[in-house]
Amino acid sequence: MKFYLFERDLAPRYTGDLNAGHRWGLPGVKEKCPTCGSSGGVVGLAYPCVDVSNLPEHDKLDEPWPVSIAEFNRLRELVRPLAPQGTPLEPGTSFGPVEGSAMGYFGQLFMQNPWSLYMHREALERLQAAGIRGLQGCPINVRFRQKNHPHLLELQLELHGQYHPDCLPPDLKPPCPTCGDANLRRPERTILDAASLPGDVDVFRLRQGWTNIIASERLVDAVRRLELDGVVFQELETR
Ligand SMILES: [Zn+2]
Repeated sequence: MKFYLFERDLAPRYTGDLNAGHRWGLPGVKEKCPTCGSSGGVVGLAYPCVDVSNLPEHDKLDEPWPVSIAEFNRLRELVRPLAPQGTPLEPGTSFGPVEGSAMGYFGQLFMQNPWSLYMHREALERLQAAGIRGLQGCPINVRFRQKNHPHLLELQLELHGQYHPDCLPPDLKPPCPTCGDANLRRPERTILDAASLPGDVDVFRLRQGWTNIIASERLVDAVRRLELDGVVFQELETR
């Protein structure tokens, strides 16, 4: 099985632009980790189908302001039962529908940035009908500034897979035992660890680098066969 990186098609006809952010999020952490010194929050980790509006303290997830480690851990445990099982919940993880405005021409598949994937509802349904696995479409709450606009859904993606050690620095330290920070930079040339890749999901985030959205060969074949547009695929080496 081959695997591919999802990338936005940069052809000029794809003028679609979403000026929108997720409804809720876990805050960043104010103080530095006492072990490794890292702080702040992550980018690109989102669960757009997770609705926290019934939590008694959901208003605390409206505020982007950093909080203490103790308060972060408390809020994280409130959200955990609502999130997919076993999934990472880091400072800055976001939830719920994106809200904002949109305009322009959107391909059948659309990426606002490398870590977010949207599809027209029809495209999602056609891929599901073709047997593609791992497609969970979540509603968005976006005002289009044009009359004819697509019914876009954002995908909520599972996390799977690791980099192969051959593409990581040989002196890479293990993740911080206190905060879990992996201190990892995107490799210059990505090589995926074949043994860590799923056999039963056709689109997912790389668990070790979740700003990368990965497609299986099955998904790429289906997208090409159905002539769905808006993204391109870059084959990744696996080892
Ligand atoms: Zn740490």
